[in-house]
Amino acid sequence: MSATSCRLCGCAVEAVFADLGTSPLANSYLPPTAVNAMEPFYPLRALVCGECFLVQLEEFETPSRIFSDYAYFSSYSSSWIEHSRRYAEQMIERLGLGAHSHVVEIASNDGYLLQFFHERQVPVLGIEPAANVARVALQKGIPTLVEFFGRDTASTLAGESAADLLIGNNVLAHVPDLNDFIAGMKVLLKPGGVITMEFPHLMRLIDDNQWDTIYHEHFSYFSFLTVSRAFQAHGLRLFDVQELPTHGGSLRVYGCHADDSAKPDSDAALALRQRERDAGYEQLDTYLGYGRRVEANKRQILSFLIDLKQRDLRIAGYGAPAKGNTMLNYCGLRRDFIDYTCDLNPNKQGHFLPGSHIPILAPEVISKDQPDVVLILPWNLKDEIAAQLDFIREWGGRFAARTPELQLLP
Ligand SMILES: [Zn+2]
Repeated sequence: MSATSCRLCGCAVEAVFADLGTSPLANSYLPPTAVNAMEPFYPLRALVCGECFLVQLEEFETPSRIFSDYAYFSSYSSSWIEHSRRYAEQMIERLGLGAHSHVVEIASNDGYLLQFFHERQVPVLGIEPAANVARVALQKGIPTLVEFFGRDTASTLAGESAADLLIGNNVLAHVPDLNDFIAGMKVLLKPGGVITMEFPHLMRLIDDNQWDTIYHEHFSYFSFLTVSRAFQAHGLRLFDVQELPTHGGSLRVYGCHADDSAKPDSDAALALRQRERDAGYEQLDTYLGYGRRVEANKRQILSFLIDLKQRDLRIAGYGAPAKGNTMLNYCGLRRDFIDYTCDLNPNKQGHFLPGSHIPILAPEVISKDQPDVVLILPWNLKDEIAAQLDFIREWGGRFAARTPELQLLP
C-alpha cells in the first residue's frame, strides 16, 4: 500500500487503526429505482498518523460527491434540540451576548441551534453548504449563507461579520481540509471572541468500542491533544473543554486567539490533556491493538443475532443512521437478519439502506407488524427511542442495542 499524507501535519501515514472492509457511502440511501443498479463500494479503513496521532480515513472519493444529497436534518432528534437550547442559554449567559453581539455557526444545518439565539434577539449568521437544509433555515428567518467554510469564505465575511461566538458543532470530522478550515476560523474570530466546537471524542470511540462511528463522511477522529495541536498551528488556543454524553461521548472545546491573556487554560483542559497522555494517546502502540477489538465485537454481534434467528424471532430495525450502515455492512447483515427498519425522517422512508438494501419504512409499521425484537441502530439515542416505543412490550417485544456488546435491553 502506498503511503498517504496526513490531513493535519502532512507526514506519511501507513499505520492501520481499524479496517472495516468495503462499504458504500453511509448516507447514500437508495430510492426504489436504484435498488437493482450497481452500487459503489469503497474501502473503509482508518489510519493513524505516527507524528500527530490524527486518526483519519484515506481519500477515495471527492468530498462533493460524499456530501451531495445529504439527507440529515438536525431537527428530527428531540434530545439534540434540547441539548442545543441549553447550550444557547449557557453561552448567552457566559459570554454576555446581546443585540450588540454576532454569533456565527459553521454547518448550521436547518437552523436548529441558531434559532435559540435569534429568539433572544442575538444577531446570527449560519453557513451551510447543503442548499436543501439551508432553505429550511431561511424559512425560519435564520440568515444563512450556502457555502463551504474555509479561509476564502472567512475572508469575505471578516470585518463586519466577524464573530464574538463562532460555533462549529459536529462539523470538524467532516472537513476534508482541516488546515484551511481552522485558518478560516482564525480569520473570522473577533479579538476577544470565543470559538466552541463539538465533536465525538476519540477516547470514547476507543474505550467504548464505537467503531461503527467510522464512516466515509467522517474523515478525522480527534483526541483533545491532537485537536489542541491543530488549533495551535493556526494561532488559536483551546483554553477549556467539557465532556458531553452526546453522540456516544463528545468534547465541547473552547478556543480563543493564542495571545488572549484573559482566557488562561482551565483546570479541565489541563487535566484532560494529562489523562490522554497517561492513556498513551501520544504513542502509536496505543492505536495498533484496536482492530482486534473491532473484530471480536463483530463476532459477538453475529453470535447474538444468529441465536435470535435460530429461535425463529423476527427482528425489525429502528432508525437509519450512518452508524447503523457501518455496522450492517461490516457484519454482512441484510434482510436475512433484519426485515426492515423504521425512521421518523420522511426523506428516508421508502428508500433502502445502502449496501444491506434493508427497506426504510414509517415507524407506524411496528405496531401493526409486532416484531419480537426492535434493534435500535442509533444506540446513542436508545433511551429516548425505547421510551417512545414502550408499547412493544404489550406483545412481549424486546429492544436490542449495542452497548458496545449487542444485547437485549432490560
Ligand atoms: Zn499527522
